[in-house]
Amino acid sequence: MAVGDFHLHSTASDGVRSPTWVIETAAARGVRHLALTDHDTTAGLTEAQEAAHRLGVGFVPGIEIGADYRGRDVHLLGYGIDPDSPSLQAFLGWQRDGRARRMELAVERLAEHGITIDLGRVRAIAGGASIGRPHLARALVEAGYVGSVQEAFDSWLAEGQPGYVARDRLGPQEAIEVIHRAGGVAVAAHPLFLGEAYAEIVRELAPMGLDGVETYYKHYDPDTVAAHERLAASLGLAMSGGSDYHGLGNPNDREIGDIPFPQDAVEAFLRFLTERDVHMIPAGGTRC
Ligand code: AMP
Ligand code: FE
Ligand code: FE
Ligand code: ZN
Repeated sequence: MAVGDFHLHSTASDGVRSPTWVIETAAARGVRHLALTDHDTTAGLTEAQEAAHRLGVGFVPGIEIGADYRGRDVHLLGYGIDPDSPSLQAFLGWQRDGRARRMELAVERLAEHGITIDLGRVRAIAGGASIGRPHLARALVEAGYVGSVQEAFDSWLAEGQPGYVARDRLGPQEAIEVIHRAGGVAVAAHPLFLGEAYAEIVRELAPMGLDGVETYYKHYDPDTVAAHERLAASLGLAMSGGSDYHGLGNPNDREIGDIPFPQDAVEAFLRFLTERDVHMIPAGGTRC
């Protein structure tokens, strides 16, 4: 069980649990340092921060945004952002509008393949959250077209499948700038999802201002962790870790804090955040 988990999703985006539930559950499991990193929204941060403060656990306000790098979907985690940053909120509004339009197109694509999904039902499942493919996947399960969220992705929604619709994204340099202008640091999320070229891509992002690499990710085995440690160290980048908890029960999912993130690495990451003077509340509850 790790004492830090810096990659968590809630009902503010495509997670199935409320920010309060996520923080309370993490604290009950012994996790002491947390970041909520919903996709393209800061809507869950106030609630999460209040829960963290009440429970005396450290809290870092976060975000996860997708950037386009040569056609690849590069996810960036922003840590220690100021949710009130006007440039950040302008960017996030644009991204959420794009998500809403893209969901309409995805439902149309599925209809062309004989899959009838009511857009209103997908929106209801999202419940006002930053809408994403996991909400559509749950609608597909509910309508009986597939047996699981994972099957919905594998058959319909993953990149290359008939229901996949790309959305407008910034390039990585601009996305990193958005995070920096909001006072945060930018970390490359789950690099392995970028495929074999992940190390090359991270090397190319470093001179664009990338600050860190998500090294201790949910199901990474010791060899994978070691490769990420070498990559980050060779570039002078920080190393974060997280479960990417959504509560969806997909294969390879991990519970909050059930990640290969050693305590000394958690402490090193916290020192890095402190040195960079980002927005955060340390464990114990005093505002810094
Ligand atoms: P979106 O933000 O709408 O592009 O959806 C991305 C989210 O969908 C990710 O954060 C994951 O929660 C989920 N996801 C993406 N690809 C897959 C996949 N192949 N299998 C299961 N879930 C996935
Ligand atoms: Fe997600
Ligand atoms: Fe991601
Ligand atoms: Zn995530």
